Parts: sequence; C-alpha cells; structure tokens
Amino acid sequence: TSILKKKGLILEKRNHIGGNCYDYIDKETGIRINKYGAHLFHTNNEKVWNYINNFDEWIRWEHKVISFVDNKFVPIPVNITTINELCNENIKDEKEVDKWIEKNTIKYDKIENSEQMAKSRIGKVLYNKMVKDYTYKQWKKYPNELNSSVLARIPIRKSFDTRYFSDKYQALPKNGYTNFFKNMLKNKLITVKLNTDFFKFKKNNNLDNIKIIYTGPIDLYFDKVGYEKLEYRSIDFHIKRFDMNYYQPNSVVNYPGKDVPFTRIVEYKHFLNQKSNKTIIISETTNDNGDPYYPIPNKKNISLYNKYKKLAENEKNTYFVGRLANYKYFNMDQAINNSLIFFNENIII
Ligand code: UDP
Repeated sequence: TSILKKKGLILEKRNHIGGNCYDYIDKETGIRINKYGAHLFHTNNEKVWNYINNFDEWIRWEHKVISFVDNKFVPIPVNITTINELCNENIKDEKEVDKWIEKNTIKYDKIENSEQMAKSRIGKVLYNKMVKDYTYKQWKKYPNELNSSVLARIPIRKSFDTRYFSDKYQALPKNGYTNFFKNMLKNKLITVKLNTDFFKFKKNNNLDNIKIIYTGPIDLYFDKVGYEKLEYRSIDFHIKRFDMNYYQPNSVVNYPGKDVPFTRIVEYKHFLNQKSNKTIIISETTNDNGDPYYPIPNKKNISLYNKYKKLAENEKNTYFVGRLANYKYFNMDQAINNSLIFFNENIII
C-alpha cells in the first residue's frame, strides 16, 4: 500500500490482528505471552531482516531449548553436552564428535523420511530418547511417516553451542509482535475488518474486479471442488500461573517422553528477561480438529496439495500467500519472504 498507493482491505476472522504471532500482556502476571505459542524470529535473509526493522526495534535474542530426558535437562539440538550426558561419553572437541558420529549414526544412500534424517544425524539411541515419541505426540505420526524436512529442522552441533538456531539474525520485537503488526498496518489506505469471515464476505460483496490475496488453508478455499481434505495439526494451550520467580530453568523445555501428554512447556517470563513476582507457564498438546497451525508434510498430503495448487494457479485475480495457502511448514522469515517475493513478482497489482 505505501509503495503502490493503492487501497487495501484486510479481512481477519479472529478478533485481533497478528495471526498466530499475536501476543498480549497477561493481566495477572504482567508478562507478555503469545496466544498461539512462542514465536522466535531468526533469519539469514538480509531483505527480510531489513523489512521487519521498518516496523519496530528488534532485540537480539538467542533462543535456547532444553529437553528433559532421563531425568536430566540437556541441550537440544544435540551438542557435545547432550551426547556426554545421555550416552555416557566424555567428548571434548569436534574431532571426538566426528568419531562418535562415525560410530553411532546410520548412513543411508538416500534419506527417505524423518526417522532416517534424525538417525543419520544423532544415531538410534538419541533418536529413541529425544525424537521418536516427541514427534508422535506432536504429529500423531512417527518420524518414518513424515518427510525428511521435518527433522531436517533440527541439526547436530559438534560443539558446546546451545543455541536453537544458528542464523545471523535472531531477535524478538521490543514491543511485542502485535505492536509490530499494528505499526505495519498504520497507513490511511489500509482498513482492517476484524471478526470477518472471508467466505461470507465474498458471498455478500461483489469482489469481481478486486485482487484478492488469500492466506487461509488452500483446501478450504476449494472446498466445493470435492477433493480430499489436507491434514493439519493444531495445538491446545494449557495455562498455569504460579506465585514464584521461575518455574523452569529455560524459556522452553521439551518433554520427549511418553510419560507426559504434552510436548513442551513455555515459560514466557524468560523471553527478554521480563520482570514479575509471579510466573506463567503454557504447556502444549496437539489435536487434528482445531485451527490449522501445521501442515503435515508427507507424500500423500504433498501430492494432494499439488492438485490444489493447480486449481490455485488458474484462479483469476486471487493469489495464495503464506503458510496455510502454500501448505508449507514456513518459519516466520520464510513466510515474510514468501510475501515479499509475491509483491515483487506482482507489482502490477
Ligand atoms: N523434535 C523432536 N524433539 C524435540 C524437538 C523437535 O523430535 O525435542 C521434532 C518434532 O518432530 C518437531 C520437529 O522436530 O515437530 C520440529 O521441531 P521445532 O522445534 O522446529 O518445531 P516447532 O517449534 O515449529 O513446533
């Protein structure tokens, strides 16, 4: 809008902006939390980084995740400490990690799925302890039922580096994601309509000569065509508050074991070192019938998506942008990049 000087109307089904990045201050504790799960921004893409810096100040935040395994807190991605703690080793440097990898990981000619991806990186023992059941709790599928891309997200570190990401830029918006989006939308030519369902709006308004950028699930858009539905995973968030300083040693603790139903617990107070004399924790369980959060990358869904994609390519005046419309497990930077590329390719809009 600011470049083309054209009017934009944003239709938002929910009662707030910001999509799944939406955050707010919890009244009881004064701590900023994300309504739909923790969002950690990271990128190597200069264009994306420059773009987001137009709308708020970003504070460097190197995210770390700890996994609770064998009654111990260990770093994930697997690093030297993880191997030493869980496999009873005494590795000191990269050379020794290489030896351990050589001995303990499995080599495949071609990696076909996420089980093989993980075993080729961290070996069978750590796969069983840290990946297999976590993945089942998250996806209701074992790693061998998912494309290798899912576990390709989690590397192995041949060092003592405990960071979750190794990207050049890792940061959180100083004033929260909602404020970041608010700044992005601050333009006289942009109107936002909350509590508005796109399909109902489309039925009641003539959009014939209007360019539409659709960001919802692609299969919902083509509901009437009668193809099989794509699968998605959704999350249930369980909130607890405590009168204590910290509940756990880190912002995110993963629980890969079968003994508890949740995948992870997020303690938001850790992010940007927020101050409060209370704390709030949110644990996550997953389901397949809530709001779609994750596309499920496997062969069946991807070939079905390709059928929908063909329909999308022939849809006049309508463009499909973002994680749900592309049925891709995009990180935030990839989602932003997807929009920036779309804009540059369709600048005639
Ligand atoms: N994963 C795992 N154990 C972990 C962390 C991740 O098995 O301790 C697997 C799991 O299948 C998960 C995927 O790796 O869904 C990607 O993890 P990531 O933390 O990137 O997921 P997100 O934060 O997007 O939910």
